[in-house]
Amino acid sequence: MLLRLRKNSSPTEVEAVFTVARALGYEPRILDRGGVLVELLPGGPSDVPRAAHRSRFEDQSAVETVLESSDAPELHEREAGREETRVEIGAAAFGAGAFSLVAGPCAVEDPDRLIEIARSVHAAGAVLLRGGAFKPRTSPWSFQGQGRSALAALAAAREATGLGIVTEVLDPRDVEAVAEVADMLQIGSRSMSNTVLLTECARSGRPVLLKRGLAATGREFLLAAECVLANGNENVVLCERGIRGFDNVTRNVLDVGMVAWLKLKTHLPVVVDPSHAAGRADLVLPLAKAGVAAGADGVIVEVHPEPAEVHSDGAQALSFDAFAELARGVRRLAQLEGKTPVLPPERIDAKEVMR
Ligand code: PEP
Ligand code: MN
Repeated sequence: MLLRLRKNSSPTEVEAVFTVARALGYEPRILDRGGVLVELLPGGPSDVPRAAHRSRFEDQSAVETVLESSDAPELHEREAGREETRVEIGAAAFGAGAFSLVAGPCAVEDPDRLIEIARSVHAAGAVLLRGGAFKPRTSPWSFQGQGRSALAALAAAREATGLGIVTEVLDPRDVEAVAEVADMLQIGSRSMSNTVLLTECARSGRPVLLKRGLAATGREFLLAAECVLANGNENVVLCERGIRGFDNVTRNVLDVGMVAWLKLKTHLPVVVDPSHAAGRADLVLPLAKAGVAAGADGVIVEVHPEPAEVHSDGAQALSFDAFAELARGVRRLAQLEGKTPVLPPERIDAKEVMR
């Protein structure tokens, strides 16, 4: 492992780094005359798990960066030669060459409408249905979702179409109830760093769709995923959904550079959400294509036939036709990128799928 220290660190701060290094079983060695580059040679064993070594150094005030940590890999890291992780949820699969589409309304509202949307996106090639029972809204006065009562509507949509369900959980106390219905748990942007929620979701055993926080760095995003992995759940899909920018032409800025970087850094699958990035329906297709070109293993979008009727995110909802066009376009692009788009099974028998 290699550390870069801050130039103005005090001798006490530097000594603290050396003490931690020795306690973790390394032999530290200063490499340069300025005394800022420290090589840590593997030495004796330590009781601290190897994956925790890097963050022990990051916590030190004298450490500016951990430059290289290949000798203490974290669970999310893509080490040389390691296969990509493939996350499977019923008919859907993400990563290791598999590409899936997820679609549905922002929130669960009318149960019949939900089934209509599920049927339409299923016919167009979606393999998971999205829709929030619990909605994390910026204003406490906005529609907060129908809560637990909406879970039955999601279950009914699965019965009707065979599509697996991905839905957000906001409160650790709801994880059990949501996991009974959901095939995949969504942890939203506003909750990305909630380690209590991450831990509860991990322990539920359901695959987790982890959305990047509105201003989270790549490292923070990966550490949130690390929290799920460290709690024994290997089925994590990362979702880039746009970060805060200075312009309001789009709601957020889809960070395609982050998609490409994540594909280098981690073996976990990465998907893009162009709906929350664009905030407007007419830009969803080009952003979806940009995400796929950058390496995404799937796309998640919001779809609704009557955007004027909905209580959240109507402006970014795709019509049924627009979703069908997007599905055709991104599947073709994914194939060009060497991926295999997963299609819904032709014969739908809800009992055979998912559970
Ligand atoms: C959503 O998927 O409906 C949602 C609220 O997303 P985000 O957490 O990315 O804002
Ligand atoms: Mn939404």
